[in-house]
Amino acid sequence: MLRGKAGTKIYLSLRDIYESIQGEGLLVGTLSVFLRFQGCNLRCSWCDQPEALEFADPNMELTKVLRIIRNFKAKHVVITGGEPFCHKELITLSKSLLETGYSLQIETNGTIWLEGMEDLASRIHITCSPKATASFFVNPSVLKYASELKFVVDGTLEEENLLRSEFIHFLLTGRVVLQPEGNKPNFLKKAFELQKKLSEAGYRVRVIPQIHKFLGIP
Ligand code: SF4
Repeated sequence: MLRGKAGTKIYLSLRDIYESIQGEGLLVGTLSVFLRFQGCNLRCSWCDQPEALEFADPNMELTKVLRIIRNFKAKHVVITGGEPFCHKELITLSKSLLETGYSLQIETNGTIWLEGMEDLASRIHITCSPKATASFFVNPSVLKYASELKFVVDGTLEEENLLRSEFIHFLLTGRVVLQPEGNKPNFLKKAFELQKKLSEAGYRVRVIPQIHKFLGIP
């Protein structure tokens, strides 16, 4: 039984646990168990998880969560939200999953870091998605450990938002993904235009729509 320092059980505020393929970003196509945290510190206008934004009391005990995960076939776990870094239990959850042999991915808006994640972060694929609602701010610790930056291409994203000095290293190493908002054709076109401009400047970005939505799966 997993317990906190005071010997109490650890509870997580989760919205959902389900198996599907990863439909976004550099690990697209990976069979994954998704854990969706409840509660986010931002409010993006086009958020496709509006029911996961309000914070709620913890509702699932960690041992039970691990048992549910074991019942799925996937050996890759995606922790998403909401915003996972709003929840201090993320550290124990991540540690438990890594110790059990799962590969782990965390999807974050990048604004928050949790002290104590440093020892685990190099073993986790961190997908950071900087948001206009946070003026594209990314916490330096998230930037240090992020595996990829994923930008949602909408009506407001501009080239200058991608060319911030702290993002250049990701542009040079091919770890920037442009994801057209809602797979809309006008934003797909805009993503290809941004990709072309950035390529001409010597940067490497990938345009990857949300594959799971094309396939009609969660
Ligand atoms: S950061 Fe993510 S979960 Fe939070 S409002 Fe924006 S899109 Fe939704």
